[in-house]
Amino acid sequence: MTKTILVTGGAGFLGSNLCERLVNRGDEVICLDNFFTGRKQNISHLLDCHNFELIRQDIVRPMHLEVDQIYNLACAASPPAYQFNPIKTIKTSTVGVVNVLGLAKRCHARVLQASTSEVYGDPEVHPQKETYWGNVNPIGPRSCYDEGKRVAESLCVNYHQEHKLEVRIVRIFNTYGIRMDPGDGRVISNFINQALRNEPITVYGDGSQTRSFCYVDDLLDGMISMMEQSETIGPVNIGNPVEYSMKELATKIVEIIGSKSKITYMDLPKDDPKQRCPDITLAKSVLNWEPKIDLETGLNKTIEYYRELMNL
Ligand code: NAD
Ligand code: UDP
Repeated sequence: MTKTILVTGGAGFLGSNLCERLVNRGDEVICLDNFFTGRKQNISHLLDCHNFELIRQDIVRPMHLEVDQIYNLACAASPPAYQFNPIKTIKTSTVGVVNVLGLAKRCHARVLQASTSEVYGDPEVHPQKETYWGNVNPIGPRSCYDEGKRVAESLCVNYHQEHKLEVRIVRIFNTYGIRMDPGDGRVISNFINQALRNEPITVYGDGSQTRSFCYVDDLLDGMISMMEQSETIGPVNIGNPVEYSMKELATKIVEIIGSKSKITYMDLPKDDPKQRCPDITLAKSVLNWEPKIDLETGLNKTIEYYRELMNL
């Protein structure tokens, strides 16, 4: 049966890719966004679809809709964006999430909360399993995002326990791909855009810190499977377990593009996690999911997208 699905943050990077998938699947899709980091061009190709609707709204204000499922993706994800107005970031993941859960309670809708590997902070356990409680600085520059997302998880679990609300929590690790805002300051968008312009590649610190990168299509497979299954409310890690240092990443991107860019080293931002890599044993067993797209393939698709955007 066709479902009505609300995607908050639907004009952002992940949200717009998700809306497209759900529209193509035949669901009735409502995209709700305040356009803080989202872009109209991400969803402009969907506006004429009979099963797609766009609402400009902030989740910090109550929503009055009738829906069957909610993917709660609203929240800026790049560090410069979420640190631009930290109090707003906290409100989005607290007041906003209460509004989303309240809407779900009234409609008896199932909610998927887009949580993050940032709940593990600068982890002392490697790779990170869902059972690890994390190492977050509660008063550092990343805390507005990290602690907000931790409260959001707590709200989901408590609505589930108190009101039997159907919740699903995914902890998303660094994801990249088409429709990432080229100016959002995240590492893959920065490096590719610098390399395409033959500008210096800005590696922060000595570049030995690691991340593991999941291509958006893989992420969506995992996220949708999580929404559809009934075995667990989570949290479940979704990410690619292949780990790279930022120096390796810079070198790889320069090589693939054949760029003349050279690496330049800049100050490491405060509280930047040194290592990050998901343990995806749980996702493999519960969702029968693991990523299929390797970094080189995903980077090629992303580079192609940015080339078109820049008319190169
Ligand atoms: P994004 O910044 O591209 O998208 C976020 C969207 O939410 C934007 O369209 C923005 O305008 C909207 N938004 C922000 N605050 C809002 C509010 N108060 N009300 C309504 N809309 C609001 O980021 P993304 O990478 O697409 O991330 C989507 C979600 O996934 C976020 O919740 C993020 O925390 C989570 N996540 C993403 C990653 C990643 O690597 N991409 C990793 C971990 C978690
Ligand atoms: N980073 C970098 N150069 C950049 C942007 C980011 O070296 O131009 C580093 C950053 O310090 C971090 C990693 O890349 O160690 C990933 O940063 P991003 O902002 O993409 O995500 P997050 O830190 O939230 O994982």
